[in-house]
Amino acid sequence: MDYNKFFHTALTRLHDERRYRVFADLERIAGRFPHALWHSPKGPRNVVIWCSNDYLGMGQHPKVVGAMVETATRVGTGAGGTRNIAGTHHPLVQLEQELADLHGKQASLLFTSGYVSNQTGISTIAKLIPNCLILSDALNHNSMIEGVRQAGCDRQIFRHNDMAHLEELLIAAGPERPKLIACESLYSMDGDVAPLSKICDLAEKYGAMTYVDEVHAVGMYGPRGGGIAERDGVMHRIDVLEGTLAKAFGCLGGYIAGSADIIDCVRSYAPGFIFTTALPPAICSAATAAIRHLKASNWERERHQDRAARVKAILNAAGLPVMSNDTHIVPLFVGDPEKCKQASDMLLEEHGIYIQPINYPTVAKGTERLRITPSPYHDDGLIDRLAEALLQVWDRLGLPVKQKSLAAE
Ligand code: PLP
Repeated sequence: MDYNKFFHTALTRLHDERRYRVFADLERIAGRFPHALWHSPKGPRNVVIWCSNDYLGMGQHPKVVGAMVETATRVGTGAGGTRNIAGTHHPLVQLEQELADLHGKQASLLFTSGYVSNQTGISTIAKLIPNCLILSDALNHNSMIEGVRQAGCDRQIFRHNDMAHLEELLIAAGPERPKLIACESLYSMDGDVAPLSKICDLAEKYGAMTYVDEVHAVGMYGPRGGGIAERDGVMHRIDVLEGTLAKAFGCLGGYIAGSADIIDCVRSYAPGFIFTTALPPAICSAATAAIRHLKASNWERERHQDRAARVKAILNAAGLPVMSNDTHIVPLFVGDPEKCKQASDMLLEEHGIYIQPINYPTVAKGTERLRITPSPYHDDGLIDRLAEALLQVWDRLGLPVKQKSLAAE
């Protein structure tokens, strides 16, 4: 049997569908974000990264780097095993307390990634509720979809952010049936926000539990970085908040926060928690440092919003097809996988600008885009150079731009 043939065919299929993925070999330069070295086939080159989810640049913050180095030096590198085997190390306990406090919850529980926290968190919670019906937003992230699937219970998908549809499904389920509403607070590909207050109203009216993924909002929204739920004053109305340490907090890991009983149940029942090694102490200390800093400092949040608004204004004025939203995400519509990849390649090779193309299945076919994520450290000069480079690329690829007079409106 020629087993290799199966893999070769699978790869050929991806090439044929123009969605074979290539990643640039990058080395970010701490203290000089968003500058990085690109280890190109022709040797190292200086580039500017415009698509990092280290949204606030906390991955280079001296307090965060210092905490990581200090902890690794003091207690060593690994966690030494799963928590069931090797116990819980102190930096992890401190981090869980920090996260519970961030979200105003009784407890929190850490996982090795945000992906795992959704996958094992949702499935474990739903499995523990007899006859649970999960109501899941149509644009939920793959990690949530996997969590819902692994729960093995009934599920219904409500149209994205459509409260009338959600209400219809809640009514149809009936008052006696246990229901879990699962959604994100900020959808990272379009940059739009869920109406959390209305979701809480519906959950309370029809007796549903709520599970909200704040992965693209923690650190960045709310007076202490608690996310959209904190900003909107509804944190206390949501049963389970899920987040990551890998984006605005600049580290690695995921978590859920909720009541002491829910968290204790997931700790006691979730395979994705029980059977895998805990996060290393140095990562936990670094994340704690980032969270503590962002609870007290608004500079990063304000500058981040200012930079995102400036990028949108300048690209819009240049006639580039910015997909509009009210958040820090700047999606630039391309609508063709081939051209999206070509645009990304040209930006990198000819302009030293790195923006990864976003193709199916991350977004729907025909909605391919460049997803730009400005950070507090993208200055005016970098923004102007980005706009010039994009205009040149758009021109070379024959991609449409809006007329200037329309663009300026
Ligand atoms: N949830 C959402 C909405 C995401 O976009 C992602 C990853 O990008 C995750 C969860 C997974 O988080 P992590 O990268 O920490 O695994």
